Amino acid sequence: MGKIIQAVRGMNDTLPQEIASWQFLEKTLRHVLQSYGYHEIRTPIIEKTELFKRSIGEATDIVEKEMYTFSDRNGDSLTLRPEGTAGCVRAGLEQGLLYHQTQRFWYLGPYFRHERPQKGRYRQFHQCGVEAFGMLGPEIDAEVIMLSAHLFEKLGLAPYVTLELNSLGSPDSRAAYRKQLVDYFTQHQDQLDDDSRRRLLTNPLRILDSKNPELHKVIEQAPKLHEHLDEASAEHFKQLQYFLTEAGIAFQLNPRLVRGLDYYTKTVFEWTTTALGAQGAVCSGGRYDGLIEQLGGQSTAGLGFGLGMERTILLLQQVKEWPAPTPDVYFISGDASAFAKALRLSKQLKNHFPDLSFVLHCAGGSLKNQFKKANQSGATLALIIAEEELKANAVTVKPLREDIPQERVQEHDLMTTVSRLLGNHD
Ligand code: ATP
Ligand code: MG
Repeated sequence: MGKIIQAVRGMNDTLPQEIASWQFLEKTLRHVLQSYGYHEIRTPIIEKTELFKRSIGEATDIVEKEMYTFSDRNGDSLTLRPEGTAGCVRAGLEQGLLYHQTQRFWYLGPYFRHERPQKGRYRQFHQCGVEAFGMLGPEIDAEVIMLSAHLFEKLGLAPYVTLELNSLGSPDSRAAYRKQLVDYFTQHQDQLDDDSRRRLLTNPLRILDSKNPELHKVIEQAPKLHEHLDEASAEHFKQLQYFLTEAGIAFQLNPRLVRGLDYYTKTVFEWTTTALGAQGAVCSGGRYDGLIEQLGGQSTAGLGFGLGMERTILLLQQVKEWPAPTPDVYFISGDASAFAKALRLSKQLKNHFPDLSFVLHCAGGSLKNQFKKANQSGATLALIIAEEELKANAVTVKPLREDIPQERVQEHDLMTTVSRLLGNHD
């Protein structure tokens, strides 16, 4: 036998015993998003590299060092998508979904970044994203943020997350602020680290986002973006805060919140937690009114967020137990004709109780051995068909989790007996 091949570093398997929290998360996301009138969109996992370079920005962590980029057999440069907004906008433009209309989209799937793997940070991870197009005013900012708050409520995570809010202003006010920031940090260069000194030239706003605690003091005293907003952005931001307050959504203003991607304008927000160590951002988003034009479309407003599913799962697992699902019924059968009967009955039961789960024992072996497997499966009931049952047109029903005696029932009584013992699933 050869050596077992291992998965790519930072890319995880999700095994059946840990799938319950994922299924709960996915179901809740779908349900809430649909209830807000958002429509699912699915786009390819691979896009042209240029799409991400043009949208995310050359001087960002993602484009500089995190993308999985490769040449395909035609020599085209392609990239495994590192985030969802670019692909969504590309699809919207290509399919004519954005011009002079409003849209509300959501999606869910894997994303890829070549980062240093650690708890809450992987090379393949999953995001659930939301994008809203064609709405310039702060109303949609309020809706999208309320929707994200609602998600955390429905997931039972509201007590563990905090909403942080900032405004990045218009491209003009941001450019003016950028100058001030460069002046300030140039005067304090001795207090910066290598990364930030480099960013001073490429992307000075990102210094504010530095995770190096030694920089906190110099960042704390830097000029604040929200004090230099243009009038329209300031008004937009004020309105948004009014809407959120009216909706009873608590938030904290965080002037250092700048987000890692170049395309944001005006509102940016992030849901953070202190329960996951260094990986505090659980859901991040903002407005990107310039992006669609940047990607070749007509000027169109846009806004969205990405929720990190692995980090959300880590939170869900901290607050609740997620036992692996167990079957309701386990069929045990003697010989081939007993199995044939089990097969037929299982189909009848499935038609009658669509929500119940069944396991048919298919691996042969003695009845005793099959009992053992039925017990291990965690099933509630064992349905036994052996020689006697075949002769009598009957089935033996044995409760496995409760101290109730087994009973032999006629085939035509099986539905009622199963229903009674499982507590009325129909
Ligand atoms: P961070 O500052 O933690 O690197 P980010 O700003 O790069 O996050 P975004 O690009 O805004 O993250 O992605 C949205 C969300 O996706 C994040 O809030 C986070 O929950 C999640 N996320 C980002 N990168 C990873 C990763 N490598 N592994 C797992 N989740 C991630
Ligand atoms: Mg990152």
